[in-house]
Amino acid sequence: MNYDALRECELFLLDMDGTLYLGDEVFPGAIDFIRTLEATGREYIYLTNNSSRAGIDYVNRLRGLGFPCEMRNVFTSGMATGMYLTDNYPGVGVYPVGTPAFERELESYGVRLSDGGDVGCVCVGFDTTLTYAKLDRAVHFLRRGAAFVAANPDWVCPMPADEVLPDCGSICALLTAASGAKPFYIGKPNRSMVDIISKMTGVPNRRICCVGDRLYTDIAVAVNAGAQSVLVMSGETTPDILAESETKPGWVMADVAELGRCLS
Ligand SMILES: [Mg+2]
Repeated sequence: MNYDALRECELFLLDMDGTLYLGDEVFPGAIDFIRTLEATGREYIYLTNNSSRAGIDYVNRLRGLGFPCEMRNVFTSGMATGMYLTDNYPGVGVYPVGTPAFERELESYGVRLSDGGDVGCVCVGFDTTLTYAKLDRAVHFLRRGAAFVAANPDWVCPMPADEVLPDCGSICALLTAASGAKPFYIGKPNRSMVDIISKMTGVPNRRICCVGDRLYTDIAVAVNAGAQSVLVMSGETTPDILAESETKPGWVMADVAELGRCLS
């Protein structure tokens, strides 16, 4: 196995759930892996499709688990969605289907939230505060032709003890069934997540490595963006799923501890 292109990477985009930890359980060697990146002069950004929390919430959560983390080390699909809406729907009233943290994140990018007659876009996140009233309202706007933008396509969010939470993709599936409208997804595997970060940091895509446990988001975003990729087998991907997947990672490793040994 040739690791040259991997070792030349200057910036690592790290998935969290299933890659660095699961729930509140930090994987063995995960914090040492971050220390290895720092010691070898590599940058890293914790990259998540989870749009239920704001960027600052991740800084606090990661620090609480023992990971080094500053605000510049976090990028979420909610942040990318805020940037996308201000670029593509400037001044448009946006009806949010998301958590209070998601709403605040959108507003921090200048997005104008509304639930009145001026709504031109419905924007859906991983809404752990979802109610029937919100679904009803979103379907109303979508049937009247509002744009349909969603933060992340994940069907479920993995939890400890083999449990899952219904995620943004599942909420959107319900809205599509009721309205006929289909969402445009911003988060992984949309390459814009990597392109935005490349522009912010000045690191070219081929020197960026995406690390994650999920083929259809973490690895697909790297393939779509021309970046490097490492699949870790510490999360939801089984050997059978990997064998059947059309999306192939650059490298496959047991966990980030193995990746750290490879890079040190
Ligand atoms: Mg994951």
